[in-house]
Amino acid sequence: MAKGIFIIVEQRDLQIRKVSLELLSQARKVADETGETVVAVVLGQGIEGLAQTVAASGADKVILIDDEKLKEYTTGAYTSVLNKLIRKEEPQAVLMGNTAIGKDLAPRLAHRLGVGLASDCTGMETDAKNFLSFKRPIYAGKAFAYLSSNVRPILATIRPNTFKAEAPDASRQAEIVKETADIDSDDLRAILKEVAIAASKRPDLTEANVIVSGGRGMKGPENYGILEDLADVIGAAVGASRAAVDSGWKEHKFQVGQTGKTVAPTLYIACGISGAIQHLAGMGSSKFIVAINKDPEANIFNVADYGIVGDLFDVVPLLTEEFKKL
Ligand code: FAD
Repeated sequence: MAKGIFIIVEQRDLQIRKVSLELLSQARKVADETGETVVAVVLGQGIEGLAQTVAASGADKVILIDDEKLKEYTTGAYTSVLNKLIRKEEPQAVLMGNTAIGKDLAPRLAHRLGVGLASDCTGMETDAKNFLSFKRPIYAGKAFAYLSSNVRPILATIRPNTFKAEAPDASRQAEIVKETADIDSDDLRAILKEVAIAASKRPDLTEANVIVSGGRGMKGPENYGILEDLADVIGAAVGASRAAVDSGWKEHKFQVGQTGKTVAPTLYIACGISGAIQHLAGMGSSKFIVAINKDPEANIFNVADYGIVGDLFDVVPLLTEEFKKL
């Protein structure tokens, strides 16, 4: 009988990613409702210190798999270890963030386990028949699909910022289990040699709570300074439309949309972006959308919660000055 909701906890340099804390909080709510247990699975090297953090965030049990071969994520090693663990433990559900790692790992794991995958979900509910059901945008966000599975384990990746990470409860205790990493040599075909991290003081685009994004209306790369000034004041990440990226004004890593990053911040401020369907596919599930555009007919106003019809070169500096006063 399948038991437990497994959260595959993502960490980098021993810092747990926010999406994993969001999943632990949500799994805790599901577990309280259904009588299930929440199991946090942490892979890496020197990870023992993370056990209390995941316990405080909602885990009943923490499985630590500590090995030098797991220090950095590689598809083969992580798939090998998790495939064996999941086959042994037989959980009801396995959830992970729809991050670069989650998008790489989950399909491989699904194949190894012989189960389906609900990917890039933006909602999850308990389901009397199949335990959990998931909501995911389809057709570039034009429609939603609702998925459930009667095969175990249910496997899903959840978009960052879908759920709220509740405040940790330091008094929570969890059972801590240490497992050894059993990695098939066949699975170690790729070895990570170096990780180059671009220095940035801004939050990661996919996990940012606030994003200020600029499109073709920015007119040139030199003008992004006004978005950066605003982003600095409100602690936002800076994004761009594909038109801005294709023009060479911003690197592709800043692109939001169907062929860029998928984001779901609490606040998305779109500046000089028309609101093409491919752009909306990447940011349409933001909680609040503010659009600044001089064309009152721009499609972005159809999805915006607040719209400012005006020249962004007037409006953005005014916003920055007003936010500075807060
Ligand atoms: P435009 O559509 O040119 O809009 C510029 C806007 O700026 C206009 O609304 C204009 O009124 C406004 N403006 C101009 N000057 C000012 C000013 N001074 N003040 C205020 N407003 C001003 N696009 C993405 O963004 N992300 C993707 O991932 C993506 N993937 C794609 C995939 C495919 C297969 C295809 C076919 C297209 C994709 N696109 C994507 C491109 C998409 O269709 C649009 O071309 C693009 O989003 C347009 O970018 P934009 O809104 O910046 O530019």
